[in-house]
Amino acid sequence: MTAQIIDGLALSRQLRAEVAQRAAALAARGVRPGLAVVLVGDDPASQIYVRNKVKACAETGLHSVLERYPASMTEPELLARVRALNDDPAIHGILVQLPLPSHLAAHRVIESISPAKDVDGFHLASAGALMIGQPGFRPCTPSGCMKMLESIGCEPRGKHAVIIGRSNIVGKPMAMLLLHASATVTICHSATRDLAHHTRQADILVAAVGRRNIVSAGMVKSGAVVIDVGMNRDDQGKLCGDVDFAGVREVAGWITPVPGGVGPMTITMLLVNTLEAAQRTLAGSHR
Ligand code: NAP
Repeated sequence: MTAQIIDGLALSRQLRAEVAQRAAALAARGVRPGLAVVLVGDDPASQIYVRNKVKACAETGLHSVLERYPASMTEPELLARVRALNDDPAIHGILVQLPLPSHLAAHRVIESISPAKDVDGFHLASAGALMIGQPGFRPCTPSGCMKMLESIGCEPRGKHAVIIGRSNIVGKPMAMLLLHASATVTICHSATRDLAHHTRQADILVAAVGRRNIVSAGMVKSGAVVIDVGMNRDDQGKLCGDVDFAGVREVAGWITPVPGGVGPMTITMLLVNTLEAAQRTLAGSHR
């Protein structure tokens, strides 16, 4: 079997066209969705990510501001900026790019964002809402993965989903979203014994580790849906995922490529969350 590709770029184009349409409709009612992206320091990867986010906003008609600060910024200064953005009516979503320089406590900074503007979905209130199945912003990468499943008609209900990785931004929220969709969920991590034993049982396999080729063909059940969240570099310095794409493609039913898979979907879901944050202000239903 050669797996079909879940094309994150094509799906993103389609969803971003919908975002652009909805943003234009909101703007016509006097609300232009606005995202503030805050970057502290000069981490090269973060600079690329924030540039892509701001560019995606421009392409879909969303207002965005990029605030760049030196790595020497103090925590009180950063908290004061976040509070100002919380109070800014032109800003509906606030994203503080992680990682922050080590003298800044990421959790305190994230908790200072108003939950109504927490479009990254990392605030405790958003994490708690996800845990108990209440409305709230969902982290962009796992919700992008759910959209990819939906796009191929993969209904998680009753399926066995195996997630490799338990981070707060990918693995855990991914597990929660799949659990809410009534999958039976297994979460694997660095202390998991016999990883392949678990992955071979997966109808849906999500790899979110950050280690190239951690998933090989022999670890995948025939016909499984394989979602590769990982972002790594190969020996030539090219972007690659956690999954041995060439090998696993011959076993899986569906597979996401890297690049062109989960990456673009993450930014797309950020646009969707920002649009929804703006829409809620119009409806007057902050949460
Ligand atoms: P992370 O915080 O470093 O978490 C990695 C997870 O992998 C941890 O839970 C770790 O287990 C687990 N792990 C490490 N080695 C393992 C092993 N040998 N077997 C099983 N599990 C193992 O990383 P993250 O932030 O979740 O990101 C994961 C990957 O996704 C990275 O490559 C990142 O760049 C990428 N990413 C991509 C996007 C995108 O938009 N495409 C977005 C976010 C992240 P422990 O908890 O036990 O340490």
